[in-house]
This record gives sequence, C-alpha cells and structure tokens, in this order.
Amino acid sequence: MSLYRLETERVIGEIRKRNAGVVGLQFPEGLKMRAVELAEQIESETGATAVISADPCFGACDVSDRKMRDMVDLIVHYGHTPLPLDYEVPVIFIEAASSVEVGEVIREAADRLSGHRRIGIATTAQHLHLLDQARSLLEERGFEVVTGEGVNTARGQVLGCNFSAIRGTDADAYLFLGSGNFHPLGIKLFTGREVVVADPYHGEVRDIEEFADRVLRVRFARISRASDASRWGVVVSSKAGQMRFELALMVKKKLEEAGREALILLAENISPAALLPFRELEAFVVTACPRIAIDDSQLYDRPLLNPSELEIVLGERSWDDYTLDEIIHG
Ligand code: SF4
Repeated sequence: MSLYRLETERVIGEIRKRNAGVVGLQFPEGLKMRAVELAEQIESETGATAVISADPCFGACDVSDRKMRDMVDLIVHYGHTPLPLDYEVPVIFIEAASSVEVGEVIREAADRLSGHRRIGIATTAQHLHLLDQARSLLEERGFEVVTGEGVNTARGQVLGCNFSAIRGTDADAYLFLGSGNFHPLGIKLFTGREVVVADPYHGEVRDIEEFADRVLRVRFARISRASDASRWGVVVSSKAGQMRFELALMVKKKLEEAGREALILLAENISPAALLPFRELEAFVVTACPRIAIDDSQLYDRPLLNPSELEIVLGERSWDDYTLDEIIHG
C-alpha cells in the first residue's frame, strides 16, 4: 500500500473539469519516484500532456509557476499546503497525506512524556489529518493537549521557516509527529522545552536534545569561523517565494558598516557547486530558505550563516539568544 494519499481521482477530475491540455507536475524529493507512474496515468486517463518538474523542490515557496507559465494550463504540486503567494498559473496542492499507522508511536511517545502535564502537538502537512487522533490518544493518558493557530499555516502545522503554530502554546513539552530533525529542532530552539519525535515511518520515538546540541555546536563553530571573514557573499534566491532582496541589501549594508566587504550573489539553487567559484569570499549569508545554512552546513567549505547568525558575528545579538530564522510568507 502507498504511504501517501496522492488523490489521483481528484487530480484527474480537476484536469478534466478545467480542460487542461498541458499539466505540470511537481514533487518534493521523497515523492519523485512516483512521478512517472502518475504522469502515465494522467496522460492515459485525461489525454493531457504531463510535464514533470525535475528540479529540486522543498516547499510551496518553490512552485514552478514562473518556469512553466508559458507551457502549462495547470500545475499539480504535491507534498505541501498552499502559501498565500501569487502563483502565475492555476495550482492544485495535493498534501500527500500520510497513510501510515501512528497509534503505536504516539503511545510510546506518551510514555516518554509522562513527567509532563500540558503537551503541545505539532506536525507537517502529511499528518495534519492525524492531529485529532494524536490528541485523543494523549488525552486518554491524562495529558492536557494544546495545538496552536499558525500564521499562514494550519492549526498545529510547522514549516521549516514558520513555527508560529507553537507560539503561545506554552506547553511543558512538545510532541512532533513526523520524520526528520529540522522541525523538532525548531520547536526545541523556539520553546526551550523537551521535544519528543514520534516518527511513524521508522516506527521510532526519540528525544531531539542530542541532535539540537550537535547542531548548536556546529553553528557555534561556523559563527566563530565567520567572525574573522572580511569578504562576504550575501546570497539571494531567484525563487519567488524565497527571494528577499531587501533583506540582502540590508545585510550588505550592515556588513559594510562593520568594515567588511560584501557582494550580492543571485542563485536559483544554492549549493556548494554554485558558490565554489567565488574563492575570494570567505563566508556567506543566505537570505533564502533558512534550512539551507543549517541542514547542508557540512557540505560547504566556507561558513554559511543565516541573517540572525550574522547578528551574533556583528555583536547585535548574543549567543544565548540564538534562534532559527523565520519567513512568514504572504
Ligand atoms: S522557505 Fe520555508 S516553505 Fe520554503 S522550503 Fe524553506 S522551510 Fe520550506
């Protein structure tokens, strides 16, 4: 059985209803292996031509509407919920809700959380439909359960750049339902409370503490190394949903006022290979997705910082106030 509900009947119905002759299909990395099968089914059942985006895609901030606008009548974007952005082509968002069983990992997580009373729950698009089940299971165990209303996200939903749904929840500890470490890391850094991950894909329950410590040690080392850099690159993304040129100009100005040199670089996909030729630059500030500097840190030969980390270099923020950067889209 598939791990995700790809709502193919709904997609086919929408293509027919809109009489779309050419349909763009965009998938996050984890779903690309389903692309060929889905494109073939769509073509045979609707007569439309499918165009699969082969570029990397990590969020609804990165819909390929600009690239496909003169080519397709409709884009089907899988794996993310819509952001309040002006897409240039009609887009259908298919969240790809997970169909994995979560009861067991939630019960195990409840055991881990037993020393706490008020538990905040957060998750990603794939498990939003399971929040009620998670709530009931925790309530049965006597916990008080809270989910927060997000800004431009659903209740209880966190993005890698938007943790507004946990603000104000004031829980004693948090349960993150899903896989990966970045979202629970964000919850940990924004709340300072214990965060337990219930990962139904790997059938695993774990604490994020050790991972958070490791990330913070790496960030401290990167910030320290960047402190000596005199020539900086300020990286701007050309992806419409991640482009923060005003911020890049502000960062450049700050660096120059601090007596450093700073040049702005524009890139579609920010990667070690894209930055490699600019050997004179000793450190970079990334104004695009805040995950790039943190997740891929080890791949770069020079430090990549987020704007809030530059504040530490420039003495505007203390290390004790370390935080992840957020982008509230829209
Ligand atoms: S900017 Fe936000 S929505 Fe876009 S890929 Fe990064 S974390 Fe996800």
